[in-house]
Amino acid sequence: MTQAPPVGPPPCARVAIPARALVVLCGPSGSGKSTFAAKHFSPDEIVSSDACREMVCGDPSDQSVTPQAFFLAHTVLRLRMGAGKLAVMDSTAVEPFARRQLVAMARLFGAPAVAVVFTVSGEECVARQAGRGTRRVPEEVVLRQARALEESLPRLSREGFHAVFMLGPWEAANAEVARIGR
Ligand code: GDP
Ligand code: MG
Repeated sequence: MTQAPPVGPPPCARVAIPARALVVLCGPSGSGKSTFAAKHFSPDEIVSSDACREMVCGDPSDQSVTPQAFFLAHTVLRLRMGAGKLAVMDSTAVEPFARRQLVAMARLFGAPAVAVVFTVSGEECVARQAGRGTRRVPEEVVLRQARALEESLPRLSREGFHAVFMLGPWEAANAEVARIGR
């Protein structure tokens, strides 16, 4: 059976990142966000909600410290933007409210918010997570995240992002990331 293509902007193989951007990675757990971030951005540019969880309590998958982890992540993002530096938010950002907060924050600093969206199916995310050892999110949570993102796709381009880049499995592995307007 062929899968219906996702609704929303078409996939692209060139991701253009403006200087001083707030890059918002969007995708379920296991969709490849952290792998993509590590490949294309320097460690100081990446603000990861899982890394913040780990800083708070020693465990990157402990959901009980989510408010503290996001407080920490958003604080670092604000400091980066205040310093005129690019920042990449590595969290699922599959829910509209999460993206809204980040778009508003970027606007406050006069920085462009750019969405990089990982359109990998929920089933594929679950399968990929199997190769990630103990840091596994429950299957039902991953599938819920995938559904939330899918529901968001038709309106993503109207959420205030300067640009929305859609990456399917091929693009996530092969897309070129170009820094523009330095
Ligand atoms: P995240 O939860 O979205 O940050 O996903 P990760 O970057 O941690 O990747 C989840 C799993 O998928 C890891 O085991 C990665 O090695 C694997 N992975 C990441 N990118 C790709 C990809 O492009 N193709 C395949 N097949 N696996 C990938
Ligand atoms: Mg990750």
